[in-house]
Amino acid sequence: MKILLTNDDSIESSGLKSLAKSLTQIGEVYIVAPQKPQSAGGHGITMHKPLRAETIPINVGEKASYRVSGTPADCVMLAIDVLVKDVDIVVSGINLGPNLGDDIIYSGTVAGAREGAMNNKLSFAVSVNDFENPDFEFFSDLAKKIIQKLVDVVKEHSACININFPKDKENIKGIRVTSLARRRYKNRVTIGKDPFGREFYWIGGVLDDPMVDDTDSKLIEEGYVTVTPLAIDQTDYNLLKQIENTKIEI
Ligand code: MN
Repeated sequence: MKILLTNDDSIESSGLKSLAKSLTQIGEVYIVAPQKPQSAGGHGITMHKPLRAETIPINVGEKASYRVSGTPADCVMLAIDVLVKDVDIVVSGINLGPNLGDDIIYSGTVAGAREGAMNNKLSFAVSVNDFENPDFEFFSDLAKKIIQKLVDVVKEHSACININFPKDKENIKGIRVTSLARRRYKNRVTIGKDPFGREFYWIGGVLDDPMVDDTDSKLIEEGYVTVTPLAIDQTDYNLLKQIENTKIEI
């Protein structure tokens, strides 16, 4: 099995190196990852300037490794079409920090997996709900087991599966297949003053999550590993039915 590994925290990140090492136990690992951090960069692609890819050994048993001057989606596209080819599965992570609920729209990690699925590859995004110092070795081993199991079970080639690990590895309650949550924030924009007296704005905020039962956002807080299949087709079929016969005058 030819595994393409990318991420959005850059090729230097510990989460990527650790996951690469674990994945060598279940397949041939090819790393194609961004040169610079791309977190919260979403599914952007680089169309208005050239991209560069350099080979750079990570030395964890990978078949090859490339550092790309672009986004996670760029990396997957380059890997599938040019650098690696004949990829069987795509894995993106392990991300430092969670990718839950609505936040996946902004996520570079999920974009890497989504790009894989859009190219008919079974794809996985892997994140951990810890921004400080997760035990990547532990979570990489667990990710490897979950991915291997799902590779055996999932027959759809274009599937995109979002995996999140809870912060506390000592008290993991189990693995739950679940849906995305709404993910809301308050105080999203902080206003400050730069040294020249001009206002600046800093986006961040505090989680103000409604915490609905049986959604990824709540289950992760309860200590579960969450596994969520993501749809690529974003059509709202209910709304489509509701408005498809509406006469709109031109
Ligand atoms: Mn990230």
